[in-house]
Amino acid sequence: MPKRGKCPFCRRLFIPDLRVKERQKTCGRKECCREQKRQSDARWRSQNPDYFRNLYPQQKQAYGTRAEYRKRYRKDHPDYVQRNAAFVKKYRRRRNKKAEKDVSSTSCDIRLTVWKQTGKVKITHVSSTSRDILVTLCENAS
Ligand SMILES: [Zn+2]
Repeated sequence: MPKRGKCPFCRRLFIPDLRVKERQKTCGRKECCREQKRQSDARWRSQNPDYFRNLYPQQKQAYGTRAEYRKRYRKDHPDYVQRNAAFVKKYRRRRNKKAEKDVSSTSCDIRLTVWKQTGKVKITHVSSTSRDILVTLCENAS
C-alpha cells in the first residue's frame, strides 16, 4: 500500500498513483494541479530570469515584427488567405443571419410575419386581463 499524501492546496489526503508514487505532489484535482503548475513555473522563472528576457527582440531580428511576418506569410500562402477569407465570409453571414433573427429583449421593436410578409412594427400599448395580453402595434416607418 503506497503512503498517503496530503495535498498542499486543498489539504485533502490522497493515495498517489502507483506509477507516480512519492513524486505526486497534489491530490490530482484540476484546481490543485493548476496551482502546482503555476507555482512550479514561477519558481522556474525566478531561477532563470533571463530566459524570456530577450526573446522578442531576437525573434524580431530574425523574422521581422509580427505584422511583417504575417504580411509575408499571407503573401507566400495564397491558399491560406483564400481559405481564411471563405471562413470569415461564412462566419459573418451566419452571424448576421443570427442577429437578424434575434430580437433584443430591451427593444420595443419586433419583427412580425403575417401571411409570409415580414415587416417591422412598434409596440404602442400593452395591457392585460387575467386571460390575455393585449398588444397594440403600429407599422414602424424606419
Ligand atoms: Zn488538492
